Parts: sequence; structure tokens; C-alpha cells
Amino acid sequence: MQVNEHFAQIGQNYLFSTIARKVAAYKASEPPRRVIRLGIGDVTEPLAPVIIEAMHKAVDEMADKRTFRGYCDDAEGYEFTRKAVADHYAELGVTVGLDEVFISDGAKSDLGNFLDVTGPDTVALIPDPVYPAYIDTNIMSGHTITYVHGSPETGYLARPDDDIDADLVYICSPNNPTGAVYDAETLSAWVMYALDHQALIIFDSAYEAFIRTDGLPHTIYEIDGAERCAVEISSFSKMAGFTGVRCGFTIVPKTLTVAGDADLNQMWRRRQNTKFNGVPYIVQRAAEAALSPLGRQQTRAQVDYYLGNAAVIARGLDRLGISYTGASNSPYVWMACPNGMSSWDFFDQLLERAQVVGTPGVGFGPAGEGRLRLSAFGQRPDVEEAMARIEEMLG
Ligand code: PLP
Repeated sequence: MQVNEHFAQIGQNYLFSTIARKVAAYKASEPPRRVIRLGIGDVTEPLAPVIIEAMHKAVDEMADKRTFRGYCDDAEGYEFTRKAVADHYAELGVTVGLDEVFISDGAKSDLGNFLDVTGPDTVALIPDPVYPAYIDTNIMSGHTITYVHGSPETGYLARPDDDIDADLVYICSPNNPTGAVYDAETLSAWVMYALDHQALIIFDSAYEAFIRTDGLPHTIYEIDGAERCAVEISSFSKMAGFTGVRCGFTIVPKTLTVAGDADLNQMWRRRQNTKFNGVPYIVQRAAEAALSPLGRQQTRAQVDYYLGNAAVIARGLDRLGISYTGASNSPYVWMACPNGMSSWDFFDQLLERAQVVGTPGVGFGPAGEGRLRLSAFGQRPDVEEAMARIEEMLG
């Protein structure tokens, strides 16, 4: 058989395995104190009560002949879930049609799968540093990648360059790993770029629930013209703790114009109904509950808890005079390594001298060199102790 030769071009992602190996070796050397991990991008709070209740109820329905459900008629999800998502957008002041909402088993799947509707000569514009899935999925599809390198001077927020001609543009806001959030003016510049260049924006809003500052856009559709040039891929993972439950959603407007005569909404529907049989009923009931008024209240309290952790990290860095992005509208704090240290040198020092684990910024792309990502997912006492140790080490 012939294989997809593009796989040979995917770099091995050694980041998290290297971290795990270094931490395991250090632990085996009997460190003086417990090792605290601020490196993980996974939620730690259990599912909110209203979600658990909805899942129990759905399980009971599956146990009864009269209410049992088999295949969902549409791979794009039950109407009740799509309506809950559309209502969520309505609350943000944006109109999304039920036939523009596609329920998925998570943002990562759709980020990869959406490339099924793109052509082989696609050029993807991807910011650096970045969530690695954008790069690897485009390489697997044989696409050409052009990078926009971030820097502390621009707050790691990419701006369009008219000299670059791209078909796809990736924007993640709030960003993983930098925690930076795009303002309306910068997003408008990207929408203008996309319309001028007939490019499609893939807007990743997986961390939308962390935005608390008034005036920052929660969705690309708050920007005029985005309904003609952007799909939005989002997730219940960080908003409601669904990293293990698995549910997300993608918005593909029927008004997109950047693909010429092609109807991307219809193509995506066709793709999903060909290769996907939908998200489990029990999970869709959980997602509906997460977006209910009580669900919003309970999950917001969890996000507040993580934001409280981020504030503890930010205050510690402020006292040390260390610059960072993120923290206020994001679970990530993207700190400068002190004294011009490289990402891995600082990672090693932090582990050996403070027994704290971060994620080396360079693991997210070359522009991440000299930075470390600290994550606010975790327990408050651990975060407080980790920051006290970092302050002791660097103070
Ligand atoms: N997008 C970004 C930016 C992420 O950081 C993550 C997960 O960490 C995802 C998407 C994946 O989300 P999901 O769990 O819905 O697949």
C-alpha cells in the first residue's frame, strides 16, 4: 500500500514526554520537597452538579425501552444541543442559525477534520508560538505553512501582513500558550485581510469562558464581516470541565463567501454525515445542561476558581518584576524567563531549586524561546505554595 508521505514531515512532539521524563528522573533523586506541577493544560475541578444530574437522567432514559436512543438522525447533533449553543451566541449578541451549529466530540477533532474541505495546495498562516495541532494537521494534509512570529513587543498578538497570501488563517483567543486575548481592532484587521485575500479564518475559542474584561470579543462573529470569512471551533473542555467527557462545537456560517461558489456549510455537513455518527446522547444532554442558566452559574464559578489561581501567579510575578502575558482572561500565564535564560534552562532550574514544573515556551514554537508557560489549572494551596517557592528562588 501507499502511505501518506506527509507523515514523515511531522516533527515528533517530544515536549510533554521530555517534561515527564525529566520530572520522573528528578523525583527518583529524592527531592527535598514535593514536586508541584503548574505545567498541565487539563482541568482539575469535577463536573458541576447540574451536569452530573443531566447525565444520570440521560443514562436512565437509555435504560428504558420508551426513551432509549440509538443513532442521532443528524451527525451535527440533536436540535436541543444546537439550540443551547445558538442561545449561548445570542447572549453574546450574535445570531447563529441552528443549521450553522455542528456538535463535535471536541475542538481538536474538528480542527483536524475541517481540513477535509480544503484543497491540496492550501497555504495556512499560523502564529508562532501556537497550539501544536494546527501545525501537525496541516502537515498531514500536505499543506504549506507560513508562520507569523509573535514577540513580547506585540504582546504575542499576530497582525496581518498583506504581502502574505494565505488560504487559511489560524487565530486562537484567548491563546494557548501565551494567554493573550485579541481585541476587536486587531480581529477586524484579520477579517479585512481574510476578505481581501479570500482566506478562511479558523477561530479557536476554546478558552472563551475565561474572558472577563469588558469589551474583549468572545467570538469572532462580534466583528463585522466575520460571517463571510470565519468558522469558529470551540469546546466544552475548559468552559465546563469536559476534557474527559468530550464535546465541542463548530460554527460554519451559511453566509461564507471566501470559498467562491462552494458552500462550505453544505460541504462540512456532508463530511460529518459521511465520516461521523454524532456525539453520544448522554454527552449532548450534559452539554445542554452546561449551557443552561444554572449550568452557566456553576461552571462560571469553576472558571473563576482557575482565574483566581492565575491571579495568584500574576501577583507573584508582579512582585518579582517579571513580565508576562495572560493570567487576567486566561488560565495560562506566559512568563519571561529571568536573566535571559532559555526556556529549558529555566525549566531545569525551577524543577531543581523550587521543585515546580512549568512548560518550556520553546516547545510551542521557536518564538516561545525564553518563555515558560504556567497553568492555573490545579488546587489553590498548590499554586500558592509554588509561587511562594518561585519568589523565594528568584527574590
Ligand atoms: N484548542 C486549544 C487552543 C486547546 O488548548 C485545546 C486543548 O488544550 C483544544 C483546542 C482541544 O480541545 P478539546 O478538548 O475540545 O479537543
